Amino acid sequence: MNVSKPTDLRPMPLRLFNTLTGQLDTLVPMDGATLRMYACGPTVYDYGHIGNFRTFLQIDVLRRFLELTGMRIHHVMNITDVDDKIIRNAAEAGIPISEYTPRYVEAFFEDMDALRIERPEQIARATGHIPRMVELVQKLAAAGAAYRAEDGSWYFRLSAFPAYGKLSKKDLSGMEDGARVDVDEYEKDSARDFALWKAAKPGETAWDTPIGRGRPGWHIECSAMAMEYLGESFDLHAGGEDLMFPHHENEIAQSESVTHKQFARHWMHVRFLLVDGRKMSKSEGNFYTLRDLLLKGYKASAIRLALISVPYRHQLNFTFDGLMEATNAIERLRTFHQRLVKGAFAAGESPQIQEAAQRAQADYLAALGNDLNTAEARAPIFELIRSANTAIDQGEFLAGDRDAILAVLASFDAVFDVIEDHDAEPTRKALAWAEQAGRMAEVAPELVARQSLSDEAIDALVAERTLAKKQRNFARADQIRNELAEKGIVIEDAKDGVRWKRK
Ligand code: AMP
Ligand code: ZN
Repeated sequence: MNVSKPTDLRPMPLRLFNTLTGQLDTLVPMDGATLRMYACGPTVYDYGHIGNFRTFLQIDVLRRFLELTGMRIHHVMNITDVDDKIIRNAAEAGIPISEYTPRYVEAFFEDMDALRIERPEQIARATGHIPRMVELVQKLAAAGAAYRAEDGSWYFRLSAFPAYGKLSKKDLSGMEDGARVDVDEYEKDSARDFALWKAAKPGETAWDTPIGRGRPGWHIECSAMAMEYLGESFDLHAGGEDLMFPHHENEIAQSESVTHKQFARHWMHVRFLLVDGRKMSKSEGNFYTLRDLLLKGYKASAIRLALISVPYRHQLNFTFDGLMEATNAIERLRTFHQRLVKGAFAAGESPQIQEAAQRAQADYLAALGNDLNTAEARAPIFELIRSANTAIDQGEFLAGDRDAILAVLASFDAVFDVIEDHDAEPTRKALAWAEQAGRMAEVAPELVARQSLSDEAIDALVAERTLAKKQRNFARADQIRNELAEKGIVIEDAKDGVRWKRK
């Protein structure tokens, strides 16, 4: 099933909330050609959870909408492959970090693919950019904004950057001059001189550099790599809301103290996800990785839709009811799409349907153009499906109407990407992973049953059913249909034979 290409829509402006200005600003590339953006990527110490993926998915919605409107983008994402947590976990596992992180990097990209999150144009690993970070620390030192502590670590001098706090708009008047923090996990409301470079501790991964033996702090990584690939000033910087302070505030301080130019013009922050109304945490028992949900039998497309359907600036309360709603919505979309593709319609166009399609398209784009309001963008599409279904039922739907509506569905899917069915692969991969990770006990029984039937076995059962029907053995035919249905396989009797698909 191929969803056709959407029609050209340029120019269609995006008004996006800017944390820095506190208002909706129109997003335009400052060089008039390519939108340069940086998004903070994952810290690869474990598998990504659905909160992480909510942020990456909302950034994907942004990307895809910009692409749909014809904008060219250059999107850089970092991978934090050295930090306190990674060092701690690798030490516990008794392996160097260079052996510890690759499996989580790989898992991250597998999960991104499962959720159909487009790859950024540039992916930058922290450990591959140490010299750039060292250079930046040297420049900060030369500008009087960095100093070396007794143990050989380097700190940013907060008092050297009076604009500190302009992004998060925190009142930092109680800030203690010279107080320092050297861990990557911060107290929420204190502003301190922060570590740029951490002197080597015995047994820890370290690099020998002109500023001493050690490793980078977390914040310097993003400043150095963003400027390396996007220049001293670029258009947009994005991440989850927890990063606004202190991480993004620190990125601004580090970068602007050296360049004296605005670092990023526009800042986008994705609101945190809650699960059943509470903060997601392992100790609360409401913590889910993508893999956990796939093994419970939910489809990757449903997880994608559930995580993007609430606009990025609203709190998303993730529930299993919400996931079922997304599953049903996708079923509705796919069934309708099939109905259009396979249906035979008389030539011509009906003015009402044409007008309804145009209106749905305009409303859909206007909703996304208004701060990426995904909830409002969905509504006109489902409304259109309802009225088109009615027209088809009443025999008032014509071939030209199909083309008009397929074009609307194509622009919907260019951003939402759930109509075309790619769900079998992520499930198959999750099962293979569970097997190898010894987690088969967590797998939903229906999922095991569904996967356990090979295509050939299904073909054989379907053939047996056809024969049973021919022999008027309807009891056996029904029995086979039910057996297959229990394993998630649906049989469709068509004029030209019998088809089956895995649900
Ligand atoms: P990390 O791997 O912890 O560095 O986080 C990767 C991204 O996920 C960052 O942009 C975080 O802000 C974001 N993030 C972490 N937890 C959540 C959550 N519960 N909801 C939404 N975004 C989150
Ligand atoms: Zn960052």
